[in-house]
Amino acid sequence: MDIAHYLAQTLRSLRAARGWSLSHTAEVTGVSKAMLGQIERNESSPTVATLWKIATGFNVPFSLFIEPPASGATRPVFDPQQRQMVVVPLFPYDEQLKFDLFAITLAPGGCSTSTPHERGVVEHVVVIDGRLDMQTGAQWHTLQAGEGLRFAGDERHTYRNSSDADVLFHSLIHYALQGVSE
Ligand code: MN
Repeated sequence: MDIAHYLAQTLRSLRAARGWSLSHTAEVTGVSKAMLGQIERNESSPTVATLWKIATGFNVPFSLFIEPPASGATRPVFDPQQRQMVVVPLFPYDEQLKFDLFAITLAPGGCSTSTPHERGVVEHVVVIDGRLDMQTGAQWHTLQAGEGLRFAGDERHTYRNSSDADVLFHSLIHYALQGVSE
């Protein structure tokens, strides 16, 4: 199953399990009804930022929308738009551990602003290769390879690559979720 198909199915089943209408889901996630419908019908691929809004509205980990890697298979890549930001989950989500760990590549000129994640989320970004600019609150930080930043993921933040080469970084998202099953 491709990533868009999997995502569409996950959104439909989450919504059905909660008994949420499209209107209610739009209210809770801040994503328009039209866009939600398109995603569910696999007519449109959301950006990483939009998918985060949906995950936050449902109070589920981001990785829930990404097909878990089959044993021995290559890892799935979430790459919905223009290959500007590519998100690869490094491990399947574990309810006991309550964190997601992603390898993220941001292309030169790439910029992604994230609306606040679930309350209590703490995000840890560590640059593996290249240079990353991050805005948290009103402040910009420049991170070189080997440098990290920990910040409150439940506040708006921005990832930007102002260099002329790809930047690869890891993002560890620690959730304060009580339980992620619907
Ligand atoms: Mn984030």
